[in-house]
Amino acid sequence: MNFNEFESKSAQEILQWVIGEYGQRAGLASSFGMEDMVLIDILAKLDGEITLFTLDTGRLHEETYEVMERARSKYGITIQTYFPDKGDAECLLRDKGFFSFRESVDNRKECCAIRKIEPLNRALAGLDAWVTGLRREQNVTRTDVQKVAEDSDRPSMVKINPLADWSLDKMEEYIKTNNVPINALHKKNFPSIGCAPCTRSVEPGQDLRSGRWWWENPEHKECGLHRRPE
Ligand code: SF4
Repeated sequence: MNFNEFESKSAQEILQWVIGEYGQRAGLASSFGMEDMVLIDILAKLDGEITLFTLDTGRLHEETYEVMERARSKYGITIQTYFPDKGDAECLLRDKGFFSFRESVDNRKECCAIRKIEPLNRALAGLDAWVTGLRREQNVTRTDVQKVAEDSDRPSMVKINPLADWSLDKMEEYIKTNNVPINALHKKNFPSIGCAPCTRSVEPGQDLRSGRWWWENPEHKECGLHRRPE
């Protein structure tokens, strides 16, 4: 299959193709940020369904749980929730404390590996494709995101990013026109929302992901869920 053909397709066209090609063997990885809410809204208006899952790291904002519940209520969706391995999380906290991720990039990656990557791998087991809300303009690490591509970390899987070429303006227009519920933190200048201790608001004009792990260089600002292809 020539994945380049998808570059000229709309998000709606791509998601309808995903439903037909994979059905429940495709999973939307949702952190319930504004991009994911747009994808959930588009999917709700199409025929058919895919799997929807989220990673509950144990360190999320209250506002994130609130928007999850609003999404469940509005769209009638089933959310598969994956938690960190209990033993790994308990060892990390016992050995390194509650804020080890601020001490070094390695420590931060260790926490993300336990709280995000291992649960993601469990969520993806049994799926053939996953859908994300990645957009090229979000960060320097995402400028070459393709709409549909083989997942460089998981060669047997296809990774689908239907909003890759959407601008923030286009996102906000869609949300307003379609009355999409969004995380209350977005209105408090949090364009990108992750774990509570690793996310803060940004100033107007700042990089959209500058509020994530703000103590690190921009090149390091991925948790490992979405690595750049080598
Ligand atoms: S974002 Fe922060 S708290 Fe969340 S898993 Fe990564 S390092 Fe840990």
